[in-house]
Amino acid sequence: MSRTGLWDSHAHLDDEAFDKDREELLAQLEQDLDGVINAGCDAASSAKAVELARRYAFIYAAVGYHPENLTGIPADYLEQLAKWAQLPKVVAIGEIGLDYYWKENEPKEVQKRIFLEQIDLAKQFNLPVIIHDRDAHGDMLELFQKEVRGVQAVFHCFSGSLEMAKELAKRGYYFGFGGTSTYKNAQKVREVLQYVPKELILLETDCPYLTPVPFRGKRNNPGYVEYTARNAAEVLQMDFAELAALTAANTRRLFWKIK
Ligand SMILES: [Zn+2]
Repeated sequence: MSRTGLWDSHAHLDDEAFDKDREELLAQLEQDLDGVINAGCDAASSAKAVELARRYAFIYAAVGYHPENLTGIPADYLEQLAKWAQLPKVVAIGEIGLDYYWKENEPKEVQKRIFLEQIDLAKQFNLPVIIHDRDAHGDMLELFQKEVRGVQAVFHCFSGSLEMAKELAKRGYYFGFGGTSTYKNAQKVREVLQYVPKELILLETDCPYLTPVPFRGKRNNPGYVEYTARNAAEVLQMDFAELAALTAANTRRLFWKIK
């Protein structure tokens, strides 16, 4: 076991923000964390995630097309993702989802179609999906209530309402909590954290973004998942070690290919 016993279930270590010190950082993280899941956002970043997972025992990869990266998506993108999905260290399809925040993103119908295609791919390989949902809570919930069946999922950096969380928890979906859960004005996120069944809680960073307090504003990295974990332990009135063991077990259950 590592120093903390924690997992970062959602990181972007392939991001150029880590180009200057990636190797050094990874050497440190290997001591501090039990594991990291690096999520891909398009072909290039998914390839980098796979490569990081190949080189580092404690890193696992997810592959997929993020809703911000759908313009010009190759016609054969599903075949490419399918090749990666068969690799032993590719543990999920993601991050995928809906993003209605950025006006330049593809229209809603295109986003939904590609999202559902990637969910079907995940089902073929019995893999869980990592969901990005920004300003699309209504459509996302509707899809999971009416169309999506037979796939496990984590709603990464969950930002929906308590009502939405209740609907998703009822269906056994997981919730990723990251830096935003430490922010002073994020009472809603902490309410969700308190409400959802403990076996559905995952910790994450989404680094290099969404840095937890007390480093908010600086570059995030998987090591900072420790601050999110300390905050969550306080909110849930659990020991740090107990929370680490719980969330590590949850991560391994959802991402069943982890060895
Ligand atoms: Zn992300």
